[in-house]
Amino acid sequence: GASLGADWARAWITASAEVLAENRVALITLDREIGDGDHGENMDRGFQAALGKLDELPDSATPGDVFKVVATTLISTVGGAAGPLYGTAFLKASLAVGAEEQLDAAALVLALTAARDGVVLRGKAEPGDKTMIDAWTPAVDAATAAAAAGASPYEVLKAAADAAERGAEATEPLVARKGRASYLGERAIGHRDPGAQSSALLLRAAEQVARA
Ligand code: ADP
Ligand code: MG
Ligand code: MG
Repeated sequence: GASLGADWARAWITASAEVLAENRVALITLDREIGDGDHGENMDRGFQAALGKLDELPDSATPGDVFKVVATTLISTVGGAAGPLYGTAFLKASLAVGAEEQLDAAALVLALTAARDGVVLRGKAEPGDKTMIDAWTPAVDAATAAAAAGASPYEVLKAAADAAERGAEATEPLVARKGRASYLGERAIGHRDPGAQSSALLLRAAEQVARA
């Protein structure tokens, strides 16, 4: 359709929790290679907790309310780098969409942009630093271009997810300049950044539930 509402937002978080549970070991494995091996555990725990909190939201909750409860849950239940970073992303997305009941393509672009900007504000990573920003920034750029070309909300999310996947893959040859992987120097080369991978999974889930 021309817009996505709270049903989509709830379905996105449900699908994200599912895909993160399925990818728990894969994300742990990536983080074991260039970090401390907890990223899959952190994300799985955080999104399971967020799922529980969604049940407590009233039926009248807006997409922004859904993002807000995810933000506060991730901040309070996920430790390490990813909890505050993803928490800030969802908080900024929540503020960006305000009380809108339905998100059109332009609103989705605003939300994605605010999420990315929140991660940058919090973590100070630049593109090419081998972080989740290397998934988010191409996703925002692709979503912006798609919306400008008249794409539907679903098509905007598809463009974002496709770009995020390519961005996550493109972290493999990089040396890390932020986070734990930055301690490894050249030894990080050849390994995909776990946060970029989880970001790509989240954006793919957003697209898949918009299509459904
Ligand atoms: P920790 O490193 O504390 O164990 P996680 O393993 O859950 O936390 O998350 C690691 C991910 O966080 C990295 O793969 C990277 O994508 C992301 N990350 C770490 N530091 C930053 C930063 N400063 N800016 C953006 N993303 C970051
Ligand atoms: Mg870790
Ligand atoms: Mg850790």
